[in-house]
Order: sequence, then C-alpha cells, then structure tokens
Amino acid sequence: MRVIRRVSEWQAVLKRRKAAVIGLVPTMGALHEGHLSLVRAARKENDVTVVSIFVNPTQFGPKEDLKKYPRSFRQDCAKLKKEKVDYVFYPAAQEVYPEGFKTSVAVAPSADDPLTRSLCGKFRPGHFDGVATVVAKLFNMLKPDTAYFGLKDYQQCAVIWRMVQDLNFGVRLRTLPTVREKDGLAMSSRNAYLQGRSRQRALSLSQVLFWVRAEILSGRRDFSAIRAAALQKLKAGVDRVQYLEFVDPSNLRPLNKFQLPLVALTACYVGKTRLIDNVIITSPQKGKMRQHATPITERKNSRCHRHRSPG
Ligand code: AMP
Repeated sequence: MRVIRRVSEWQAVLKRRKAAVIGLVPTMGALHEGHLSLVRAARKENDVTVVSIFVNPTQFGPKEDLKKYPRSFRQDCAKLKKEKVDYVFYPAAQEVYPEGFKTSVAVAPSADDPLTRSLCGKFRPGHFDGVATVVAKLFNMLKPDTAYFGLKDYQQCAVIWRMVQDLNFGVRLRTLPTVREKDGLAMSSRNAYLQGRSRQRALSLSQVLFWVRAEILSGRRDFSAIRAAALQKLKAGVDRVQYLEFVDPSNLRPLNKFQLPLVALTACYVGKTRLIDNVIITSPQKGKMRQHATPITERKNSRCHRHRSPG
C-alpha cells in the first residue's frame, strides 16, 4: 500500500497504470466498519482502489468540530493495509486548497427543490458547498471510474449525485447501506466522542427510526401521528433534536401525505455531539427483495468512461 501526498505523484501513477479501472473511497479518516464496507466493495469491483483521507475544512462551520475531529492516520493505514488497499491519498490542506484558491461548487437550492438548504443544510449553512467542492476536487485530482459513498449520509449522496449529473463528471456513483453497531447505533467517526451514558442516549436515534419503520410496515398510515410520537420519543432520549423528517427518497422533499418508499431522517445532539441517522422504508414486498432499493440507490448516472487523456 502506498501513501500519496501530492497530486503530481498520483498523476504519475495514472500514467503508468493507464488501463486500470479505479475505485475511489473518499473519507475523513478515523475509519470504522462503515468505511471498510465501501473499501471492500471498491476492492471487489476495480483494478485499483484508492482511499482518500482528508478532513475537509470547507465543510465545517466556524463553530463546528474541525479542530477536534478524530484523527488516527496510523491506525487507519493499518486497517487499509489489511484490506489490501492499493493507495491512500492523504494530502495536506495546502495541496487541496493552495494559496489563492477561490472556486466553490454549489448545488443551488430553489424554492421547489431546497436540496442543499433542507435537513442538514438548514442547520449547517455552507456545509454541502464544502462537500461538493471537495468531492469535485477529488474527482478531478484522482480521476476515478467509480466512487463509493455511504447511505448513512443520505443527503450527501443526493447532493453528490446531482453535482455529478449537472457537471458531467463521468464518475459512476455507488451507494452502500449504513453499517451499524450490534445494538443499532449507526457507525460514525464522531461516536468516539460518546462516553458512558451518552453512548446509551445515542441509541435513541436508531431505536426511534426503527420504531417508525416497524409502525409503517405493520400498516399504520397516520403519518403525522407517527411523526409526532417519534419526535416525542426522540426528545426523551437525546439532548436536542435538530430535525426529524419523512421525505421522498428521490428528491428529499418533505412528504405531506403518505407514500412508500420514504426516508426518515434525523439529526440530534447528545451532549455536544451531533449525530445523524436515517432509514429507507420501502413497501414490504420490495423490501424483502431489495431492502435499500430507492430512486437514489437505483439511479444510474452516465456510465463511467475514461476521462483522462491517454498517456
Ligand atoms: P466520513 O469519513 O464521515 O466523511 O465518511 C466517508 C464515507 O463513509 C461517506 O461516504 C460516508 O457516508 C460513509 N460512511 C460513514 N459512516 C458509515 C456507516 N455507518 N455505514 C456506511 N457508510 C458510512
């Protein structure tokens, strides 16, 4: 496994391995089984797997946890080596945002499609611009054929999908299901902040979302009553609920009447730790066959094609 710190080094690799099909797993490090599920898929489906580790400053707000975000490069490398990853792209901030950097990619919201302003976008202004910009940069720097993302960050998947369509990136997107701890807590690098009682309280997110799913799959259709009860349960478990929304999986618009499939998403604070989680609820028949099939997970963007110049 080789650690690459500069784009020029990677360009030399690409030149040597012209014919290789490349899978990219973008991460911010502090790797856990959720990340590794993406790595394993990339390893299976590509000639070469590159995992990027970059704590992207532009997606953090001024009062957010950029400085204390968990960093564990050595342990991350040991995990990736075990998975037989070929390359780790670990750039310095200066390599990604050199002096004078001025360009930003924004997936613009509109009145009828607030994609980047709703849900997390409402509470983290500028967050998705930071995400779109860094992902666009990673695609341009590393030129993958396929990039792997987790549905744990459902809104992020939707934003990146939109950007790839709008800007003709020619990168295929693969989205994979949320990996959870045995007790249901969605794995997250930020779970490292949770100690003792907070760890227990954090379970409320998945428990409430699973409750919503069970109610709906058992035939309940009184949408607002389910949401109100779920919100009450959440409030009893966590310190602050930022949102609990039921949305259309294909465009993330809030639902005002019942439909399936739907995605139920929440963001909450436990102490100072902000956690997000979601469940995708499909109709029972479909659910049995393909649990995570929704328009976002099924949509295929333009087939990947080589977009780097030969030689
Ligand atoms: P992060 O390091 O948090 O930026 O995450 C890097 C990638 O891993 C993103 O595509 C996330 O959606 C994905 N990811 C994070 N946690 C999980 C999880 N529990 N299950 C599946 N994918 C995840």
